Amino acid sequence: MDHFQFREGVMHAEDVSLEVLAADVGTPFYCYSSATIERHFTVFRDAVAGLGSGDPLVAFAVKSNPNLAVLATVARLGAGADVVSSGELARALAAGIPASRIVFSGVGKTRAELAAGIAAGILQFNVESEAEIDMLAQVAANQNAIVEIAIRINPAVDPKTNAKISTGGADAKFGIPWERLPAAFAQAAAHPNLRPVGLAAHIGSQLTDLGPVEDTIRKLGELARALEAAGHVIKRIDVGGGLGVPYNRDLPPPPSPGDYATMVARATAGWPWRLMFEPGRMIVGNAGVLVSEVILTKEGASRHFIVVDAAMNDLLRPSLYNAWHDILAVRHKATRTVATVVGPICETGDTFATDREMEDVGSGDLVAFMTAGAYGATMASTYNSRPLVPEVMVKGAQWAIVSQRNTPEAMLALDAKAPWL
Ligand code: PLP
Repeated sequence: MDHFQFREGVMHAEDVSLEVLAADVGTPFYCYSSATIERHFTVFRDAVAGLGSGDPLVAFAVKSNPNLAVLATVARLGAGADVVSSGELARALAAGIPASRIVFSGVGKTRAELAAGIAAGILQFNVESEAEIDMLAQVAANQNAIVEIAIRINPAVDPKTNAKISTGGADAKFGIPWERLPAAFAQAAAHPNLRPVGLAAHIGSQLTDLGPVEDTIRKLGELARALEAAGHVIKRIDVGGGLGVPYNRDLPPPPSPGDYATMVARATAGWPWRLMFEPGRMIVGNAGVLVSEVILTKEGASRHFIVVDAAMNDLLRPSLYNAWHDILAVRHKATRTVATVVGPICETGDTFATDREMEDVGSGDLVAFMTAGAYGATMASTYNSRPLVPEVMVKGAQWAIVSQRNTPEAMLALDAKAPWL
């Protein structure tokens, strides 16, 4: 459920008309609904409350939307953060997420990033290779620190999602093959500066089948018991993120947070360990839209094109994953058409929808790319020297620009002619 609704034929974010916002900030722009973020976070947090031992940690996956206002919104609800770079770590801390609720994931953390996490005093590092165990031990020793880690396993399951966001297959770059976990744990335990206290897994994103997640969680439980039998002390199990969101309102919705929590409760019954979750898309996906203006329409040999002022650099998912986003007219249109919606970038991949039945929008009309709150603005680039677009957050009738539109001048100022030119 989201808070983007039509009032008198015009789409609003909560109580703010997207037409009014467009007139004020220009297009394209991202718009987030604070109430939707709060609702999704609360629904998830409440669904998993009471599972495992103690209070589960819901660590918002910062990569899905690292905007400071978004992070501050979930921080106020008690969220932790799952970060994968020192940039994300800095953002999480700046948003008010306590270090004691931050977990640092990622297959290639640099020494500098490990050092930054240690200096900040984060809860745990999710370590993804034997080489990283030794590297972290060295960095921790340099800082005279004792660091708690979880080891991320590769469970070798097929998460049944898009190959580019599938992370749990045996050949994926993520985690340590589960068969090597006992040896990796022993390796970590032998380092005086490391305390291996947990296990982690994250098998992929936009998951619509809970079966592979359940298999993975059960595998984590079996491995944790075997490690305890070998004398290790296990405190936490991080089951990752990945729950899918409905991108296409004409298709059946993916499992709900309630379905997910029921599955987790079944798979973790009797567990004596604290649970950790890393949801991203599920919290912010439906909480954001990308608003764009139609520049013009044109007729190809056989296609009706709608050319909008947003492009693949602003919202990469359709081009990268063939992902679907519903595209709605911000002001309802009575007539419909079949159109191919494209941006201005000089690549055929700059296509948002192909031969799609949709409202018959024309030059000057606004459209909203729905469900763009996750992996939207954060994956934007400046390809074709297009400035990053602003992000706006709405709360009731209030709104604020929470990330400024970049300018061609500011972008140019980062470049320099080499001294010999
Ligand atoms: N945790 C890790 C380690 C991830 O790599 C990701 C994203 O792929 C997430 C959590 C968040 O996934 P999602 O946004 O699908 O919940």
